[in-house]
Amino acid sequence: MNVSPVWHPFTQHALEPAMKRIVRTEGAYLIDEDGSHILDAISSWWVITHGHRHLAIMAAIRRAAESYDQVIFAEYTHAPAEELARGLIEIAPAGLKHVFYSDSGSTAVEVALKMVLGYFHNIGAPRHRICVMEHAYHGDTIGTMSAGERGVFNAAYEPLLFAVDRLPFPEAGREQETLDAFETYCASGQVAALLVEPLVFGAGGMKIYPASVLAELKRIADRHGTLLIADEVMTGWGRTGSLFACEQAGITPDILCTSKGLTGGALPLAATLCTAEIFDAHLSADRRRTFFHSSSYTANPIACAAAAANLGVWKSEPVGGRIEALAANQRRHLQRFGADARFGNVRQAGTIAALDLSVPAGGYLSDVGPRLRAFFRERKLLIRPLGNVIYLMPPYCVTDADLDLAYDAIDEAASALARGRL
Ligand code: PLP
Repeated sequence: MNVSPVWHPFTQHALEPAMKRIVRTEGAYLIDEDGSHILDAISSWWVITHGHRHLAIMAAIRRAAESYDQVIFAEYTHAPAEELARGLIEIAPAGLKHVFYSDSGSTAVEVALKMVLGYFHNIGAPRHRICVMEHAYHGDTIGTMSAGERGVFNAAYEPLLFAVDRLPFPEAGREQETLDAFETYCASGQVAALLVEPLVFGAGGMKIYPASVLAELKRIADRHGTLLIADEVMTGWGRTGSLFACEQAGITPDILCTSKGLTGGALPLAATLCTAEIFDAHLSADRRRTFFHSSSYTANPIACAAAAANLGVWKSEPVGGRIEALAANQRRHLQRFGADARFGNVRQAGTIAALDLSVPAGGYLSDVGPRLRAFFRERKLLIRPLGNVIYLMPPYCVTDADLDLAYDAIDEAASALARGRL
């Protein structure tokens, strides 16, 4: 076997075909070494919002690179981080007052968990139980895996994972079970926080639940002094129709985690936003109350400048209009599959569209996903189904014609699969 020294993520190298080498990115496309334009229908793992290499963001990166590389972020600060923090506070749900930087979605959530435990420790009423929902995904570090759904992905690491309280996912018609279970856990007075993806559970299968449930979860949490961490790593930056999904529930979480679309997808950066109450609990003449967390590249100035430019794009361009148009387009396409027996559970949240292929064994480890991926790859489409769940989450610049092609390919794939030809 001719295996490259590069070890790719979530990749079984013994089974995967050779990696496609990308030489350039532009708009909604990845361009490979043969010059083929591949439609990035999942925004390169959900990070690209406006489109690849948005001009204003790339220009901001070039400008920042004229002045900075990395700057230590303890004892020293810099304008890109400060400007970005002010900008984030301005657009985030009201009441979030402080911004802690890190480098990925996983670290944004790890930071949130540590903030929560630090808060309860520092106010002298320690709590350490974390509540999550079935099908959750928050990252691949030990802490975030602990909070995520357990299964084949983390079986090997299970002995290191900490225990959490789990709520049933609020399936349609069974929302009250989730709320009742949460109320019961909270009544112990021991639940430090509910960690939850607002409105859409991404990697857990693009599962959607109503904003009213999130609003009610927040009310229950408030009644019991439990904090709510909104993991907006995937849902943020317009994916569900609003800038942050929490807005649709009319709530301000105690902590909000953002990454992926924070820089429009150009550079790795994450931010964990929190209330003054949580920050203030770490404010003391006693050094033991310090928030003991950092990573070397915290608040990289070039990444912060990219994110600040992204905020500028949101202000100066009709991003909301593009999102509405894309959402409408997704809705139109999904209607075509609504009554089609080859598909089930056709669903949408803003720009995110998902549907389940009706196949007998479509779990993540089945070969349905890889076969579908190969089928789409041949048609110059980057679509990575989660088992039998096919979803499209393209950049907002995607054209109607390209979306047509993607849905035609999904249609074709379903027929090929039904005829045993895939
Ligand atoms: N949280 C959510 C909701 C995610 O969807 C992801 C990644 O897909 C993460 C956290 C982890 O982000 P990262 O892969 O940047 O560590």
